[in-house]
Amino acid sequence: MNLEITNPAELQKMDPVFGQLSFDNHEQIVFCHDKYTGLKAIIGIHNTVMGPALGGTRMWKYNNEWEALNDVLRLSRGMTYKSAITGLNLGGGKAVIIGDSKLDKTPEMITKFGEYVNSLSGRYITAEDVGTTTADMDRIHEVTPFVTGISEEKGGSGNPSPVTAYGVYMGMKAAAKYQFGSESLAGKKILVQGTGHVGETLVEYITKEGGIVYVSDINYSRKEEVAKKYGAIVFEGDDIYGADVDIYSPCALGATINNDTVYKIKAKVIAGAANNQLAVEEIHGKILRERGIAYAPDFLINAGGIINVYGEIVKYSKEEAMRRTENIYNTTLEIFKHADSKAITTQQAAMEIAEARIEQRKKENANK
Ligand code: NAD
Repeated sequence: MNLEITNPAELQKMDPVFGQLSFDNHEQIVFCHDKYTGLKAIIGIHNTVMGPALGGTRMWKYNNEWEALNDVLRLSRGMTYKSAITGLNLGGGKAVIIGDSKLDKTPEMITKFGEYVNSLSGRYITAEDVGTTTADMDRIHEVTPFVTGISEEKGGSGNPSPVTAYGVYMGMKAAAKYQFGSESLAGKKILVQGTGHVGETLVEYITKEGGIVYVSDINYSRKEEVAKKYGAIVFEGDDIYGADVDIYSPCALGATINNDTVYKIKAKVIAGAANNQLAVEEIHGKILRERGIAYAPDFLINAGGIINVYGEIVKYSKEEAMRRTENIYNTTLEIFKHADSKAITTQQAAMEIAEARIEQRKKENANK
């Protein structure tokens, strides 16, 4: 899922769209431009076999348009697997708006983006992501029904982060069960990297259970605040990856498991919310397996958010969303088992199961 190309010159040498390394049989890529509002957006629809392509809209100050295209290709593909492994009748899609959300975003731009979403007649359903907010989703909802993550006052499911945190907690407990023989996190030393919307609630769950939590965040006051609130310890060292802990939980950025870190990690379990934690899936996933580190695939255990917004489409309650999210525990265990039985990485195992579901649905759709 993470074919990283960082050099724009290299990217430009390839065929612009279908030749991108991240292009993986995406069904449709929509470039949206509006000179009046300054909107430049790309909607990526990877696969709609399981249902409409649902995925958030990220607003980010990309260095160039190639980077934005690469991101939407990678992220939309990731959503296909996330929904399939979670058992949702959704396909994979994602959108990116090019710009700084703090400086460039205007209500008119968001409305225009909503009109583009609407023009796809439901093949793509949007949601919140980095750089967009529940208020943006409410605004988009004024021009299209194909949006989730709208505010509770407007009949939506509100902030998905607490549900995401619950799923990560369930995935972490399953990984602990697999690795340590017990799902209990009491007494376990756990490093949570990133104490934002998801990280904070995760810290709350773990400390309540008696886990010893170390927190790290580039925002100093944020980690101090979270540590104080839940009785966690602020991680003081320079080397997060070499920290002497049982569990490492990446809840900030992607690609933290890379050439520089993968051999340093002392934790025996990795389970966190961040998307695309393995810099190069095939390489770093394999090294983790060889080193005996149990890696709970990110796209599986951070699916609580999408389970939550799916409730807006099929009309289920928050309680039902939590119940379905709890099932991430069972799915994670199933994936560890599948990976061991085939001597493959957990990432590969999860993707194999997701792909099999998509293939099966394709056959069912063809026979209808
Ligand atoms: P957030 O922006 O609220 O929090 C991220 C936190 O990480 C911030 O406090 C930030 O200061 C910190 N951070 C950034 N770089 C860091 C670094 N190098 N070291 C330590 N801390 C750093 O984001 P969030 O909503 O909590 O999401 C966390 C991660 O989970 C993101 O990668 C996001 O894509 C992923 N995710 C979130 C959801 C959701 O429902 N919010 C769902 C699926 C995946």
